[in-house]
Amino acid sequence: MTDTTYEDTALTWRDLIDELTAEQIAELEEFEAQPSDSCFVQAGLLKDARQYAAWNATDRVLFGHMPKPTDAKDTGHWRQDGEHWHRLFWGTERVCHSAECECDHDDDVVCDGVGKVDVVGQQFSDGLISRHVDLRSRDLDAPGCRRLTAALLSAAEELDRLHAAEVQPELPFGA
Ligand SMILES: [Zn+2]
Repeated sequence: MTDTTYEDTALTWRDLIDELTAEQIAELEEFEAQPSDSCFVQAGLLKDARQYAAWNATDRVLFGHMPKPTDAKDTGHWRQDGEHWHRLFWGTERVCHSAECECDHDDDVVCDGVGKVDVVGQQFSDGLISRHVDLRSRDLDAPGCRRLTAALLSAAEELDRLHAAEVQPELPFGA
């Protein structure tokens, strides 16, 4: 074998570790720890790591100047759709518990939430932000209906308030 050939390619996913977030590394390590055919696992891990590194680089280089929407708890990666760039984001969550749920008082209790009202949205590279409410519910009794209604009204007010504050967004490419 010769060592004169230089290849600018990672051989394992760990060669890309400096370009990954702590969350991505934890996810890949968890996948790597699962017992299965190591050859396929390693190939899959490298493929995922390359994709994550590419997304991270795009986020940083092309869109590092874009602030997150004010209500965003989490954002996805920037993606190109035709000639438009956008990213998904996740805002305020409203969980409606049953009357008996003890999850607020005891960390060991699994929440029996009967409804969930989440504000989610898309941010576009020209500064436009659009939001909607993602609603899930199950087994609603009368009190559950009232809690879900209150959560929906609260979410509607939040949407109005955020939209009014963003009617004239600052131009993202000003400076
Ligand atoms: Zn609960």
